[in-house]
Amino acid sequence: MVLARTHEKVRPATVDAVAGLEVVQLRHESQLTSEEYVKQRAWESASLEHCPVHPEGGCGFARHGTYPRVGPPGMLIARWYCEKAHVTFSLLPDCLASRLSSTLADVEKVATAVEQRAASIETVAEELRPDIGVQGAVRWVRRRVAAVANALKALKGLLPDVFGSVEPTLGGVRAALGVVEVLPAVRESVGAQLKAMPPYVGLGPRHFRGERGQRGRQHGVGADPPSRRRLLRASPESSGRHEGVAHGRRDEEAK
Ligand SMILES: [Zn+2]
Repeated sequence: MVLARTHEKVRPATVDAVAGLEVVQLRHESQLTSEEYVKQRAWESASLEHCPVHPEGGCGFARHGTYPRVGPPGMLIARWYCEKAHVTFSLLPDCLASRLSSTLADVEKVATAVEQRAASIETVAEELRPDIGVQGAVRWVRRRVAAVANALKALKGLLPDVFGSVEPTLGGVRAALGVVEVLPAVRESVGAQLKAMPPYVGLGPRHFRGERGQRGRQHGVGADPPSRRRLLRASPESSGRHEGVAHGRRDEEAK
């Protein structure tokens, strides 16, 4: 299996980040694959009815266009802006990994290949990324494997009643949930606790505890992050609820 080459960095909500605006990623619940999302221009139907910080309104909350991801090609992310809090909110569809220009499905393919490997990780890495040197390929693979391992470990902690006795492997969770693709299902399962789930599954802070190379201070939205109650539901015409949340300052791969 050779995966299409992906750039390692995702463009942040560049203009916003450069302007010093807070950028918060929310979940756009969607069953669409990345290809379907692009083809259907699903960002156009993504909706936030009210400002997550000021549900009472009066803050100048409005749609704020879209921003492009480096990948998949043609992918745009819907965005809103709160004038009062100087915060932009982007709705990341379930098919996409956070902080990585990749889909969750592609991340899962890599981690699955490693989990099920009969050969060395170097061999697997070379097969997956023949376009780069073996050392770079191994690093590329290991980042994804570590991210998945962190997510599955966090899952046990967040939902011990459901996953406490499940082996924290893709195979274990796949069997427990009865799904083909684990990572989007995990994002779904944790619901409002998504901010406590590490990237690339979760939409948590960039400096998620324990993630290598993560630094920086907390970027909160006001005094407290928006609670699930305060996060608004999608409008009736959109594909689902929006929830979740996090303080993503930048949307790029954690090195
Ligand atoms: Zn607001």
